[in-house]
Amino acid sequence: MDNHSIKVNYCSTGKVKPKSDELEFGRIFTDHMFIMDYSDSLGWHDARIIPYQPLLIDPSAMVFHYGQSVFEGLKAYHTPEGDAQLFRPKKNLERINRSNDRLCIPELDEEFALHAIKQLVGIDKDWIPKADGTSLYIRPFIISTEAYLGVAPSRHYQFIVILSPVGAYYKEGINPVKIAVENKYVRTVAGGTGEAKTGGNYAASLKAQELVANSGYAQVLWLDGVEREYIEEVGSMNVFFKINGEIVTPALNGSILKGVTRDSVIELLKHWDIPVVERKISMQELYDAHENGSLEEAFGAGTAAVISPIGQLTWNGDHIIINNAETGSVSKKLYDTLTGIQYGKQEDPFGWIE
Ligand code: PMP
Repeated sequence: MDNHSIKVNYCSTGKVKPKSDELEFGRIFTDHMFIMDYSDSLGWHDARIIPYQPLLIDPSAMVFHYGQSVFEGLKAYHTPEGDAQLFRPKKNLERINRSNDRLCIPELDEEFALHAIKQLVGIDKDWIPKADGTSLYIRPFIISTEAYLGVAPSRHYQFIVILSPVGAYYKEGINPVKIAVENKYVRTVAGGTGEAKTGGNYAASLKAQELVANSGYAQVLWLDGVEREYIEEVGSMNVFFKINGEIVTPALNGSILKGVTRDSVIELLKHWDIPVVERKISMQELYDAHENGSLEEAFGAGTAAVISPIGQLTWNGDHIIINNAETGSVSKKLYDTLTGIQYGKQEDPFGWIE
């Protein structure tokens, strides 16, 4: 296959585009989608962009039974010059291949996948919303499509990319959230699939999330699945704490997802000469830091919210109030800089924009 040949079948009439103030997350999809097939004999083949449409899949397709699938999430932003730009898309494609490896899914050609994403975004460029804080969410994913009920790696797959215009995450300005420390349920365990972006991890997280949401919390703080002592992630974000002037984030240990935002936060902090360490950090250590007054800030980091300050952590009935439940200065500076670069309003000294 010519590496860069993608057949395009345009839709005849485009859908009506939503108004910026009607946008939510992930409910509306654009006019086109990218799709490519895999079979053992042909490898990845038949790359095409087609009108957005339902899939025709056998009910015995393996993805429905054993969950062999991976996905990614990134965004396209509308710049003041009227261009479309992506933020570190190569990181997402490196990660989908690490997820593929863990789930026994054949590797993608990252360069070709990026080309496909760019071509699809180019075709649906008019769907990138323009209002402040809005963007076009890009969801690449792979499903196992072989019609077979044996528990084994599938011999057929589809790689699909869909696009969804999304509203601003913060409609009334960046706002600290309340988080419940989760002692009963775990997201994943060391040796499990936590480091991979696979649907099963998210299915496993729903119960805890549902329970705390009923009590008014935005998310759970996940602890490690073995000792239930060490902090791993917050909801579907990586987590950072400022303790005594130093920023601490849990070291990657196999069960933590290697976030693109996490990586960007660490690079920015180093660039600003703000001390940052990746290490194990226990809930007890965090509690003690709060008690002795050295816990200065806490925040989550991920593509959806970019930076989400944590104003309160509830642990075994104790409410830990952080920075008077206000947005801290490091959180604010990171948020402003990252969004400034993403929306093309600020210089990109790292070469993060494509
Ligand atoms: N952890 C989990 C479990 C996630 O789902 C995400 C979102 N992809 C993140 C962290 C943050 O990753 P990123 O910065 O790449 O969005």
